[in-house]
Amino acid sequence: MKRRKIFKLIGAAPLVGGIAVGLAPIQSVFGAPTPVLAPKRDLIKELNLRTFINAAGTYTTMTASLMQEEVMEAINASSKEFIMLNEVQDKVGVQIAKMVHAESAMVTSGAFSALTLGMAGILTGMDRDKVKRLPHRLEEAGIKSEVIIQKAHFDGYEHALSNTGITLVPVETTDDINRVVNERTASMHFLNCNTHEGKIKHEEWIKMARKYNLPATIDIAADVPPVSNLWRFNDMGFSFVALSGGKAIRGPQSAGILMGNKSVIDAAKLNNSPNGSTIGRGMKVNKEEMLGMYAALDNYINQDHEKEWKMWEDRVEVISKAISKIEGIKVSVTVPPIANHSPKINISWDKNIIKLTRMQLGEKMRFGNPSIEIISWGNDENSIDLTVFMLKPGQEKIVARRLYEELSNATFG
Ligand SMILES: *Cc1c(COP(=O)(O)O)cnc(C)c1O
Repeated sequence: MKRRKIFKLIGAAPLVGGIAVGLAPIQSVFGAPTPVLAPKRDLIKELNLRTFINAAGTYTTMTASLMQEEVMEAINASSKEFIMLNEVQDKVGVQIAKMVHAESAMVTSGAFSALTLGMAGILTGMDRDKVKRLPHRLEEAGIKSEVIIQKAHFDGYEHALSNTGITLVPVETTDDINRVVNERTASMHFLNCNTHEGKIKHEEWIKMARKYNLPATIDIAADVPPVSNLWRFNDMGFSFVALSGGKAIRGPQSAGILMGNKSVIDAAKLNNSPNGSTIGRGMKVNKEEMLGMYAALDNYINQDHEKEWKMWEDRVEVISKAISKIEGIKVSVTVPPIANHSPKINISWDKNIIKLTRMQLGEKMRFGNPSIEIISWGNDENSIDLTVFMLKPGQEKIVARRLYEELSNATFG
């Protein structure tokens, strides 16, 4: 509707109870929705928010990843209707479980809360009195209170388990496990991204858990791709698997997935929002995110992974080729074996030729036009890293040009 026409309509608005009214009566008289008068608000502009090209990766502080159109459609469509929250959770869970070879699944508030809720589920089972007791004085309530974890598997995220009130018991060898298992032991937890750092690998971890009839659990938060990791650990027999939804899967950033045995997931739900008097009440996930998470996972599983990998390699090629021309530069490409498994470019330079520290280059990229984030932290003063999997198509050319400009400008002479 054109502006002029709207004003005309307002001018013709009837007097209701002797008071001239504006747009509301138009709606009742003509049965049409209130026309949009103002142009769409742009909050990014209004609040002067810095947007940037993400050549760093799925870092939580950088908002990790961008949701695809199908995810936003799921979110927008469901935002217009009321649906019972548990019905969404249950029905989305059934579909996700099928996709990942699990008995059951649920959408959580990130992988972190998946870990907390899964742990809570193991501790309480379907006992509502126990649910109310977490996270305090577990032993007094007859709840098991110890979780075995390899020393090399501490990375900070095990705090999600401690939040239930359990104590972590560090081990290094299977002999250690034999020694520390006791009647208070609740489970054995594994951090997938530190597989190579620990002495005990998946199969042996599960074997030891079976020996003592304990649930084995695993954190694979950032470990997709490869897509097969979505089901690999369910197939292996872990009791629960915690996955981040907002990293490479590109679901809502604050969503995650807990998948595994039905008994554990059912109990995890009991410990979760919308139920009150639970440790999970503050981990609320709305229906939009549950459906958005499902749409993202569906998209992710069904996309052409080989084609995507090829696209990443092409981007790497564009950047490497441009930078390699500069004297004193060395470019190498590696792929982290687990977690953020995608090509990573390392650019290092001879400090006698290029007068720039990694921090300086990071700032030049950040405050340049357009703003670009790269991995400019770390120990080596004369090197930075970048990834290409969070770039939008074509942005690799901008990244290549900007890096070339800054690095060649810093060349002596
Ligand atoms: C990112 C990450 C988490 C937390 O995931 P969220 O989805 O942000 O809650 C947990 N564990 C590991 C290993 C991670 O990399």
